[in-house]
Amino acid sequence: MVLVNENYLKLSENFFFTEIEQRINAFNLIHPNTHVIRLGLGDVCLPLPDEIVSAMENAAKEMGKIETFRGYGPETGYRFLIDKIIKHDYNSRGISLEANEVFVSDGSKADLGNIGHIFGRDNIIAITDPVYPVYENAAIMGGRSGYLTKDNIWSNIVYIPCTEENNFTPDLPTEKVDIIYLCFPNNPTGVALDKTELKKWVDYAIENQTIIIYDGAYCSYITQKDVPRSIYEIKGAKKVAIEIRSFSKTAGFTGLRCSYTIVPRELMGYTLMGEKVDINKLWRRRATTYYNGTSYIIQRGAEASYSLKGKKQLQKNIDYYMKNAAIIRKELLELGFHVYGGINSPHIWIKTPKNTPSWKFFQQLLYESHIVCTPGAGFGQFGEGYFRFSGFNTRENTIEAMERMQVWRNRI
Ligand SMILES: *Cc1c(COP(=O)(O)O)cnc(C)c1O
Repeated sequence: MVLVNENYLKLSENFFFTEIEQRINAFNLIHPNTHVIRLGLGDVCLPLPDEIVSAMENAAKEMGKIETFRGYGPETGYRFLIDKIIKHDYNSRGISLEANEVFVSDGSKADLGNIGHIFGRDNIIAITDPVYPVYENAAIMGGRSGYLTKDNIWSNIVYIPCTEENNFTPDLPTEKVDIIYLCFPNNPTGVALDKTELKKWVDYAIENQTIIIYDGAYCSYITQKDVPRSIYEIKGAKKVAIEIRSFSKTAGFTGLRCSYTIVPRELMGYTLMGEKVDINKLWRRRATTYYNGTSYIIQRGAEASYSLKGKKQLQKNIDYYMKNAAIIRKELLELGFHVYGGINSPHIWIKTPKNTPSWKFFQQLLYESHIVCTPGAGFGQFGEGYFRFSGFNTRENTIEAMERMQVWRNRI
C-alpha cells in the first residue's frame, strides 16, 4: 500500500492562479465574444530583444554541428553566464561575489520551494502577509506549517502583516523565527524597502541567527535611488541572506526559464549540536544531485540580456510596463481608490471600494467591466479587501481598462 505525503492534503485543491484561470474560463464559455482585459496577471507580454533571439539561434545552430555540440553542462551554470551576472548585477553595485556563490537555475519559483530541502523541518518560517503564495505553500508541503487554526492560518508559520497602517512595510517579528522570506519590491503590494528599512531586517537576522530568503524578482523595476537592488548592498547581509533572482520579469524569460540563486560562502546554518554548517555546500550538493543544469541555449539567451543592445532594449520594455503602471496609478487615484505600489514595481495594490471582499470584487469587475484583477485574498489574510493590477499589458489595453473603470465607477 502506497502512503502519500499527507502534507499535500493540507493544501487547497487548486493553486491560487489556477483558480483565477478557471473563473475566467467559466466567464468565456458564457460570453465567448467579449474582449476581456487581463490586468491582474503577473506575466510579461512584450517580445524578446533581437540580441537575445539571435544569441539563442546561434546556440541552437551550435547544437547541430559535431564541433560545437554540447551535452550536459555544469549543473550550477556555465561560467560565461555566471561571470556576466557577477559583473553586471553585483560588481556594478559594489558587491563582490565568487563564481561558486552563483547557482544558475531554470526558474526562481522552483528554487524558492526547493531551498527548503537543505533546512531542518523544525525551523520556524516567517512570511510577510500578503505575499507571493509559493513560500507558504512550500512550508506546508515541507511539513513545516503545523495545523490550520480556526482563523484559517497555520499554527507554525509566523505571519508579518503589511497593511495600510504600516504603509505595507513590515515590522520585525516579535517572536524568534529561523527563516524569513522577504520579497522587495513586493509582489503583490508593489512596495519597496529603502536601505534603512532593509538594514533593520539584516540586523535582526544577524542578531537572531536567522536566514533571509530574499526574492528579488522585480529588482530591475526599481526607480528610486535609496532603494537597494540587492540585499547584499546592506552590510553584513552575506552572513544571513540567500538572494533569488530571475530573468523572467527582468528580461522577459517567463516562457524561456532562467534564474539564479546566490548562496554566499559566509552563510552558516547549525546542527542540533550547534556546529556550523556551510549552507553553500549543502545547496551545491542538492543542485548537483537533483539537477542537470539549465539549457545551454537559454543560458546563451540570458547572457545576451547583458549585452549593450540587449540591456537597452530590455530597459525600454521595463519603461513601457512602468508607464502602464503610472497610468493605472494616476487614473485610479483620480477615481478615489486607495492605491499603493507601481513606483518601483509593475504591480499596483488597490483597496476595494466599500470593503468589498476581494473575490466578490473580482467577479463584479469581470462580469460588469470585463476586466480581470487579481484578488488580494489569494495572497494571504491581510490581502482581503484588496486587489492587484499590473503594468504587464499593452498600452491600448491598459488605457481601455482605465476607461472601463471610469464608466464602472460612475455607475456605482
Ligand atoms: C514572477 C515572480 C517570480 C519569478 O518566477 P520564475 O519561476 O523565475 O518565473 C518569483 N517571485 C515572484 C514574487 C514573482 O512575482
